[in-house]
Amino acid sequence: MKRIVVLGGGSAGVMFSNRMRREFSRDELELIVIEKSEKHFYQPAFTLVVFNLEDPKKLIRPTRSLFFDGIKVIIDEATQIKPNENKVVTAKNGEYSYDYLVIATGGRLVFDEPSGLKEGIGVAKNVFTFYNYDGAIKLRDAFADFDGGTVVSSVCEMPIKCPAAPMKFILMAEDTARKKGIRDKCRFVFTTPMPAVFSREPYASKLTSLFSERGIETVPNFTPSEVDHVNGTISDYGGKKVNFDLISVTPPHEGSSLLEASEGIGDAANWVRCDKHKMISLGFPNIYSLGDATDFPTSKTASGIRKQAKVLVDIFKAVLKSEKPTATYDGEIICPILTRYKRVMFAHFNYEEAISPAIESYANWVLKVHMLMPMYWNLMLNGLL
Ligand SMILES: Cc1cc2nc3c(=O)[nH]c(=O)nc-3n(C[C@H](O)[C@H](O)[C@H](O)COP(=O)(O)OP(=O)(O)OC[C@H]3O[C@@H](n4cnc5c(N)ncnc54)[C@H](O)[C@@H]3O)c2cc1C
Repeated sequence: MKRIVVLGGGSAGVMFSNRMRREFSRDELELIVIEKSEKHFYQPAFTLVVFNLEDPKKLIRPTRSLFFDGIKVIIDEATQIKPNENKVVTAKNGEYSYDYLVIATGGRLVFDEPSGLKEGIGVAKNVFTFYNYDGAIKLRDAFADFDGGTVVSSVCEMPIKCPAAPMKFILMAEDTARKKGIRDKCRFVFTTPMPAVFSREPYASKLTSLFSERGIETVPNFTPSEVDHVNGTISDYGGKKVNFDLISVTPPHEGSSLLEASEGIGDAANWVRCDKHKMISLGFPNIYSLGDATDFPTSKTASGIRKQAKVLVDIFKAVLKSEKPTATYDGEIICPILTRYKRVMFAHFNYEEAISPAIESYANWVLKVHMLMPMYWNLMLNGLL
């Protein structure tokens, strides 16, 4: 019997493992998941929490409860992969050997840079991030009390999870100010290290015109070097400075620090180096990866993982029979962009092309705000969608 060890029990680890358990019986395949957290968060709803569109308590479930019977879930931290010995070292339970390893350890938020970010968020009066659970709740509370001034959404570096999320924040913040009748007392600014608000057409043009119609300023090519919460300024390496009364910062992301201790698997930022179609490690023939952990040149989203999990199971259906896999991942992701109350635009594309038009609609809003989370818990994680 073969053994697959899966590192990480986030969206990617759960979707992949449950699909595998459905395909292969316990007599055929042993599945072990190593996950360090007892709790699983539905991160795509962090944005909804900020605008009071979702109850934060509904975003958390116990990690173990998400896995099918017959999957051994070990709550522990993987501290090193020894790819030449086919072993994983853990913090508490010693070593696990594997025939195949699947790395699904996601991304890590790094608050050490820009300077002053950690201190600013610690003070939590004018500097926030909604990229984690507590941060989303704090930003919700601060924004509810906001009665005028400059609101900034600042992206530090790419890649990040759901690259549209910082834009969703500034668009929804601007619309909320209109609804509260304080729009004329506010200024809205979006800073990005990229040359434009979004990288893919036709969504980039649509977002650029929405920003300009609604008076949201964009500061492109802005890589923050310092956040000064005392004076309310964010500066970049080129000497530009933007003032704020309330700022939401999307911190730099890196792959899991596990990759740093595991030679030959990750790149300089600890993303797993792998073939963007075949999902296999570039260094080792029995290591695969999916989800945010990878260096796939597409957006890091749960929607992409849904597709990747299906493809990786198809790859294993061939590999476990010693056949050559033919299934490939085409980079498809769907990102719902909240553009204002009751309107969402889907950015839907793959490595090669855009799949959906750049249209805001109420139907998309209903899907994103009311349906996607129940679909995630009941269908996507179970591998039914
Ligand atoms: C604000 C925000 C908005 C978003 N909006 C959307 C959206 O609208 N649509 C969408 O599709 N996606 C969205 N996403 C992205 C989506 O949530 C992620 O792409 C997805 O959750 C990533 O899943 P993952 O399993 O790859 O990584 P993670 O969810 O990060 O899971 C990785 C797991 O690995 C574990 N782990 C890490 N290192 C170790 C170790 N050494 N040992 C053991 N366990 C380890 C972690 O504890 C974690 O549970 C959003 C994300 C954010 C933050």
